[in-house]
Parts: sequence; structure tokens; C-alpha cells
Amino acid sequence: MPASALPATKESLRDSLFDVFSEDEILRITTDILAIESHRDAPGHETPVAIHIRDLLRREGIQAELKEVRDGRCNVIAVLPGPGGGQRLMFNGHIDTVPPGDMKRPFEPHIIDGKLYARGACDMKAGVAAQLYAMIGLKRAGVPLAGDLIFTGVIAEEDGTSLGTLDVIANGPEADMVVVAEPSDLEAIVAHKGFDYYRIDVEGVSTHSSRPTNGVSAIYKAARIITAIEEKLVVRAERRSHPLLGSASLNVAAVIGYARNEATTALRRGPGDKPPGAVVPDVCTIYLDRRRIPGESLELVEAEFEELLNELRQDDDQLVAQLHFTPACPELHSHPPLDTDPDHPLVRECLRIAFEEAGIEARPKGVPFWSDAALFNSMRGIPSIVFGPGHIGFAHSDREFVPVHELLKATRINAALAASLLSG
Ligand SMILES: [Zn+2]
Repeated sequence: MPASALPATKESLRDSLFDVFSEDEILRITTDILAIESHRDAPGHETPVAIHIRDLLRREGIQAELKEVRDGRCNVIAVLPGPGGGQRLMFNGHIDTVPPGDMKRPFEPHIIDGKLYARGACDMKAGVAAQLYAMIGLKRAGVPLAGDLIFTGVIAEEDGTSLGTLDVIANGPEADMVVVAEPSDLEAIVAHKGFDYYRIDVEGVSTHSSRPTNGVSAIYKAARIITAIEEKLVVRAERRSHPLLGSASLNVAAVIGYARNEATTALRRGPGDKPPGAVVPDVCTIYLDRRRIPGESLELVEAEFEELLNELRQDDDQLVAQLHFTPACPELHSHPPLDTDPDHPLVRECLRIAFEEAGIEARPKGVPFWSDAALFNSMRGIPSIVFGPGHIGFAHSDREFVPVHELLKATRINAALAASLLSG
């Protein structure tokens, strides 16, 4: 229907937009994308999916391009342009998946009891398909948009580097609001924790263990640090709380200590091996996983670690310990929290429409998992939400699926959200 023929009221506009969508078509779009492998061991990694999406959108008359990010791996970027000057909404989804693992028929999407199974079904190709189909529907219905509707299908989320989204943030396109299609059970997610990894390297002095007092055990020193972490920093983190996320947390994830000249024996630990012994350990590394809530800065967390180490050093002049931040990759220094204002129109409209179309409780939510939405939000201050079909609990599992009935609902909510936010 051409734009000039559109009915005037919001309700009739919505009806004419929704007439465009069919369950058969969203199912076909989703299964076509699921049938293309895009995990780290697949030929071309994500690029075959990016090409498929570009061609799908171009057949609908929508501008779509590949953007190489690294080593031939491509984002796909599309836009339904408004006349300029209006708000710009971005649909964003990662187009990589985790490898198939032990999943049965991972690239032959199949339905059992109303559930569509395949690797990437909920995480997050169904979410991507629902964004693409919403865009296609808006184009076909000729819904007039005052601002741009953008789609960015990005690489490298599952490897923890988020290189695809970082490339969008660095090079565009720019947006004023972002919806990331991770599985949210069709709820609007406005907050999640950030996560960062640290390491504390503790140095001792090795000596023959028949006279251990001649040396300094790095393991004993690490034990003191770990006890202090548990008694002070863990308690402090757990006292800080966010209304949607609960408390921050700190976990000692691993401890490895040994004598350098016995390292091979100490770390192999095969059956029948000679136990490491006869030497006082001079190396111990503590691995830490810190989950930040909104309001906790990276500087604050690091300052707390350093303050604790300084206190311990004052009590013990033999304590040699160094804190190291361990980023996922040089480009992604930190995984920040997501903290979008629950009263922003993006959130309010998503809640209103999801309630109307799918009966979803109209309350903004926080979730325990991390998403690229946090990068748009923390690096550019862009209000960003997570919204998509499927349940995160089945992501990465051998039973990964998305409920078929959520595909069309997610499409309609995406389309109505874009029409509402970008309408003149
Ligand atoms: Zn995901």
C-alpha cells in the first residue's frame, strides 16, 4: 500500500501494517537464517549470514550493505531512511552463534510441539529475523517514518569481543535509541550487570621445603589476600544493590600456585604423576570475576582492590602482589553494565505495545546476562533495551529453541514500536 493510501488513525495504521505479516513468512525467514552456520568453526564464520540478510532486504527494496570488520568477517547494515531530522531507531542483533556442540540437527531447523529447534534459535537468530521482518513490513506497508530505522547485524558477540558492535559504535550508523534482540521472553530489559575479569599475581621466594622458613610461600600470601577479599570486598559488593538487579558480586574464580621450577609437574596433574613437592611455591595467581551494577565504575572497583592490597602490604612487608585487569580483547576494555532510564519513551512504548500485542507484564526488567546493549548505552549514552523472542535459559544449550508463537508477536511489537517512535 502506498503511503498516501494509509488510513489516518493509529489503530487503522497498525491494522494495515499487521496485515502485511504472516506466520508462514516469519517462520521461513527465521529458518532460512538458522540453516546457515555462523559459528567460529563455520566457513566464513558470520559472513554467509550477512550476505543472506543483505540480499533478503535488497529484494524488498531496502538499502543494505556489508561492512568488513576483520579478516573478511562482515557486519550487515541496512536502513529505511526518514526524511532526516527525526529520531533514529536501531535494531541490533549478533549474527554469530556458539558452535553446535552435541545438539541434534543443529542446522536443520525443525518444529516439535510448537518449538523451533536449531543452533541460534533463541540466541539470537529468531530475534534478528523478527527485526528484519518488522523492517520489511514497514517498507511494504509504506509507513511514513520521520527518522531512520536502522538494522545492524553484527559479528563476534559470542567470543566476548563484541567487535561487530564496537565497529558500529566507532564508524556508524548513528542512532538515538537501540533495541538489541537477545532473548527476553518479549520483555523489555533495561538493566543488566557488567562483568570484568582481574588477576592478582603473587610472588614468593622458592626454597627447598625441608626448610620452608628460608623462603616465602606465594600460596600462603595468596590465601591472606583471598581471605581479605572474602571478608571485605565481597561483603562490600553484596551490600550495594540495584532495584532490578540485586547486589553486585565478586567471585574468586580460580587459584593456581606452584614453584616455577616445578611448574610442569604441578600443572599436569595426571594420574600417577609425581606430586609437586620439595619446593616452596614462589608463584600464585588469583583469578577474579567482578559483576558490576549500574553506578559502580571501573575506577571504583580497581581502587577497592588496590586499597585492600595496600592495607595487606602495610601489615606484611613480604607480601608482593600485583593487580592486573584482563580485558577480553584490546578493543573491548570492559564489559560495562546496562542502565537505561525505565521512563524513556523507548521503554514505555515497548512495554505498552508488548502488553497490548502479547499480554506481557508492563514492567521494565533486569536480567543476569550481558549484551551489546550495554556498549551503546555506556559508550555513547544511547538509551538501549534488550527485546527479543525466546528464553535465555535455552541459549547455548543442546535443546536451544524459540517458541513459534513468539516469532510473529516479536515482529509485530518491533514494527509497532518503530512506527510509534519514528512517526512524524
Ligand atoms: Zn546472544
